[in-house]
Amino acid sequence: MLLRHTPKEITERKGVTINPAKTCQPVGAMYAALGVHGCLPHSHGSQGCCSYHRSVLTRHYKDPIMAGTSSFTEGSSVFGGQANLLAALTNMFTIYNPDLVAVHTTCLSETIGDDIPQIVHKATEDGKIPEGKHVIHCNTPSYVGSHVTGFSNMCTGIVKGLAKHTGNAIDQVNILPGWVEPSDMREIKRIAKEMEAKIVMYPDTSDVVDAPQTGEFKMYPAGGTTVEAIASSGDSIKTLACGSWASEDAAKQLDSSFKVPYEVLDIPVGLSATDRFIEALANAAKVPVPDSFIAERGRLVDVIADMTQYLHGKKVAIFGDPDQLIPMVEFLLDLDMIPTHVISGTPGKKFTAKIKELCAEKAPNVQVQNGAQSDMFLLHQWIKNEPVDLLLGNTYGKYIARDEEIPFVRYGFPILDRIGHSYFSTVGYTGGIRLLEMMLGAIMDRQERECSDIKMELVM
Ligand code: SF4
Repeated sequence: MLLRHTPKEITERKGVTINPAKTCQPVGAMYAALGVHGCLPHSHGSQGCCSYHRSVLTRHYKDPIMAGTSSFTEGSSVFGGQANLLAALTNMFTIYNPDLVAVHTTCLSETIGDDIPQIVHKATEDGKIPEGKHVIHCNTPSYVGSHVTGFSNMCTGIVKGLAKHTGNAIDQVNILPGWVEPSDMREIKRIAKEMEAKIVMYPDTSDVVDAPQTGEFKMYPAGGTTVEAIASSGDSIKTLACGSWASEDAAKQLDSSFKVPYEVLDIPVGLSATDRFIEALANAAKVPVPDSFIAERGRLVDVIADMTQYLHGKKVAIFGDPDQLIPMVEFLLDLDMIPTHVISGTPGKKFTAKIKELCAEKAPNVQVQNGAQSDMFLLHQWIKNEPVDLLLGNTYGKYIARDEEIPFVRYGFPILDRIGHSYFSTVGYTGGIRLLEMMLGAIMDRQERECSDIKMELVM
């Protein structure tokens, strides 16, 4: 009943977004920066912006997210924030001693037109950046793109600020994992280790935003890719960029600056995308695929075969970020489910075409839309007009799920009201089993809740 005002009739809207299916650029930039060891993200804008970026990440990860802010006042809003950023850099290096500070902008500092490279240059000239420390930066105007754009921009900022080329090629592969959970980053490292593939992966937020409770506070937890490891990525033999929206620009930067060739892949979600990822890593690192992966894959295929009767023909509505949605839609099709409504608030022309291409054979009637007006309101209207059996998406979907009584699986960012995403991966073959477990649990729970007594089964 929370969204009872949502009408079934769809009218054309141009100037208004209702319940956007995205959040602001700096949130992504902050998350990417946390994947560098010893990094203190810094929000160049007002305190309110920084509080929002930190709070949404803290709520998703249930861990404190540390970051600095330039604390703009009325004065800096008129005259620019150079003095604030210079003072902030001095304070941060003096009091909190990070290895590096990653500065991203906000709507306000972008509108003023603050020139961050010039301010960082002045900080260097003035001796405000101690020897051996670094300041990297990126622009994140939140009135374009989404949190995914901000993540991508900071990944490119990391390459620009930290990667180096010595001329001595190293037999290692760069992996840009895209915006995935720390559990997923840990799983990608496990896959590479099992293949004996030498990699450098960044950003890597495992052991940063899911750090263990030891009773001792650490401003900079043990995880994150070190500055030295990132520096070496300019000498790697290849880059595998997972997710075009989050990782392609950084891969291009490595190519254009250091001639490291790249390949853009889907994030390894589900059966087919994981197959492609493992094949690409084996080829790039010139290593064989171990037999253990044949067993892992076999287990996923076995679960699919065992449970297909509960999945076949089920209609699914899904919303979130393009890099997650593309392989997830492919996985749903592999499961003989029917992607019916697909929404992303993140812009990018190729998204709609890619989803339609994937669905052409098995789900030709799929409704798909992305960009600012592709919001939760529109998704709700679509569902009212064509109901579905399952809804997949972040926590904001729970209002639609409740109103329309649809089984709901939390998938994507942000998840503010459940745990698990930080600790149980949804990438790779084992991640595929986890996704199946969540989807089947939701579908079967509903069946048991709503079926007549006579149809209640002990063994499903
Ligand atoms: S003002 Fe812009 S940068 Fe700040 S929280 Fe709002 S959308 Fe994000």
